[in-house]
Amino acid sequence: MLEIKIEKNKNPKPIPGPEDPLVFGTIFTDHMYVMDYTEGKGWHDPRIIPYQPLVLEPSAMVFHYGQEMFEGLKAYKTEDGRILLFRPDKNIERANNSNHRLMIPKIDPDDFLNGIKTLVKVDQDWIPTKPGTSLYIRPFVIATDPFLGVRPSSTYKFIIILSPVGAYYPEGLNPVKIWIEDEYVRAVRGGIGEAKTGGNYVASLAAQVKAHEEGYSQVLWLDGVERKYIEEVGAMNIFFKINGTVVTPMLNGSILPGVTRDTCIALCKEWGLPVEERRISVDELVEAAKNGTLEEVWGSGTAAVISPVGHLRYENDVFEIKDGTIGAVSQKLYDTVTGIQLGKLEDTHHWTVEVR
Ligand SMILES: *Cc1c(COP(=O)(O)O)cnc(C)c1O
Repeated sequence: MLEIKIEKNKNPKPIPGPEDPLVFGTIFTDHMYVMDYTEGKGWHDPRIIPYQPLVLEPSAMVFHYGQEMFEGLKAYKTEDGRILLFRPDKNIERANNSNHRLMIPKIDPDDFLNGIKTLVKVDQDWIPTKPGTSLYIRPFVIATDPFLGVRPSSTYKFIIILSPVGAYYPEGLNPVKIWIEDEYVRAVRGGIGEAKTGGNYVASLAAQVKAHEEGYSQVLWLDGVERKYIEEVGAMNIFFKINGTVVTPMLNGSILPGVTRDTCIALCKEWGLPVEERRISVDELVEAAKNGTLEEVWGSGTAAVISPVGHLRYENDVFEIKDGTIGAVSQKLYDTVTGIQLGKLEDTHHWTVEVR
């Protein structure tokens, strides 16, 4: 494992207090982690330095052809002051799967985890402790060759930044309204949908703006070929409880394999609920909503953990789910996952990793 050099910030910023609002992704801590890649040399010189702007050539490849990968996970402070990460091995494995698809060199998983842990330790006073708050961790890689031709870059930067974040729903779990998109698509099989990369997000913006204008907070994507099968919600995976069975779209190459999705499936199975990972068409969903067998809908993702869905719109049909209230499985998943993340419930799966 590579040794990380640490340069402390001599001008630390004031740390937000419990009364300060923590709007997602707006405040950054005093330090950042950086490691360079050079062809022939591999990843080298991991370091922690004061949080600061990057200096890059305007010709850096990331600006032109989007060769970049990112991840998202959180650190939590328990009541007894321990710092926990939730399933970081899954994020690191997925990061390297994304790297593989995007022609970015693999990062040694031990160096990756050591980078996260060391940075979180340096900025541990920034981990907020109010209920529902956490320290969001954003690792990412950018292609830095100064070159306008199209090929994989031969130099990269791997960077980790940290951001204290508030409760996703300050008033507690709140059902969201979801727009089922039938014009734009997010990803196609064989494309980059299963990689966590900026390109998938820029593809989603037009539909997101359209949905927001109609009063919807999120877009539910259909498959890119037939626009018939349900995929995911862009930053969340999607679950339905239909007639007692938990159904979620199977991973097909264009859906992002969420860590929270995997956690939800494991817990539901453990609780004895039938779980099906399969293709589900929008017609089946509409039929279930109409005949009363659609019992619950929720999204799963690191940011909100569980997001109950109270309202769906597909073309000119609008469906209210459970009259906009929170379903029992959604609530139990939220309580269990956040309970484990905060060290309040026993971690029988060994999902948490302590930073010490
Ligand atoms: C990150 C992400 C998710 C959720 O994944 P988690 O690991 O559960 O946070 C779902 N869909 C997309 C497109 C994502 O980028």
